[in-house]
Amino acid sequence: MQLLVPTNWDPSLIAPLSRLEASVELYSVLPTSMIGSGGSGPDNVYTMGEQAEEYIKRAHSAGLQFDYLLNAPSMSNMEWNEKTHRELLEHLEWINSIEADSVTVTIPYLIELVKRQFPHLKTRVSTIAHVDSVARAKLFESLGADSITLDIHINRDFKLLKAIRNAVNCELVLLANNLCLYKCPYEYYHHDSLGHASQSYNPLNGCYMDYPVIHCTLDRLCDISQNIKSRWVRPEDIYACEEMGIDVIKISGRSMPTEQIVNTATAYSLRHYQGNLYDILNALTPKIGLVNSGLPGTQNHTIAPPPKLYIDNQALEGFMDFFRKQNCLSQCHQCNYCQKIANEVIQFDRNEVDEYVALLKEFLDNLSSSRIFKVKAGVRNYLH
Ligand code: SF4
Repeated sequence: MQLLVPTNWDPSLIAPLSRLEASVELYSVLPTSMIGSGGSGPDNVYTMGEQAEEYIKRAHSAGLQFDYLLNAPSMSNMEWNEKTHRELLEHLEWINSIEADSVTVTIPYLIELVKRQFPHLKTRVSTIAHVDSVARAKLFESLGADSITLDIHINRDFKLLKAIRNAVNCELVLLANNLCLYKCPYEYYHHDSLGHASQSYNPLNGCYMDYPVIHCTLDRLCDISQNIKSRWVRPEDIYACEEMGIDVIKISGRSMPTEQIVNTATAYSLRHYQGNLYDILNALTPKIGLVNSGLPGTQNHTIAPPPKLYIDNQALEGFMDFFRKQNCLSQCHQCNYCQKIANEVIQFDRNEVDEYVALLKEFLDNLSSSRIFKVKAGVRNYLH
């Protein structure tokens, strides 16, 4: 098995990951760059270029490859400006010079650029590019992609996984432990806002609001079945995706603590996890208030992590079989399967959840009423 594992840049991750039975490739990115990335990184680690270079050297010495993320969904057209295009090339030169083995990109143009000018770098399409069909997979492959990370929402669509496998020759990657909402309405906006927030040219200096995570956390706590509808694939069921032609299992969670990254990678390497599945899923903690991403010395406004659910992993044995015949895309409004499973396998503290839900609702109310921006009623009337 080949695993793509996030790193929070902690050197102590390297040794335990290099001892796993699965062959491991690490991935990460500096907190800000001119291209940006599509996810939040560790809150308390500020890594500089020289440290990243040293880290990649250590990973290589331990036999681990390294994938550098360049997967913001857009660059605000900086790629087309002469000055910033030159900087883009310098940034790619630097990634090449620190001997990253591959880059993960979302913007199709970057695939062509890297293939043409930096042919030693393997190109991997990000899950943020939403490759969810044979047609899109073939078009990305025709641009030169060596590897495609599929849209997480097709993780349990076995027929489609097989059809994509039969249509392309490149490596296929499946992101296995995301707790994102199934068909999340905030997803595109989330990636877009994080992409811009992690770009060094951002006019707001990386400031953003964690609205998508606040809302998705609220939705998952108000409707517990969403935690089952979410397209994670537990370690025991990975084989079913591999049978459809998946080559690499990717784990998400660059912001997870070191111990959790090691536990999660170990579970997927062993294809087995005893206990609470929630512990190896990537559940984000919503940040309340304006967030400054990736800048040294800036303060994030966080609250306590959401109440922990208990998802009995052993009770999920055979749970994936239902998806072999179900068409979730068109039938979710008349299917009760995920609710039934949630009732059987999830436990939580109702009071704790209710309290947290009230907190999130209050903050969202402050956002939708613009109270948080201290906009006075008179100003609103004037604007309208
Ligand atoms: S269609 Fe059924 S199995 Fe699929 S996500 Fe909806 S409730 Fe779950």
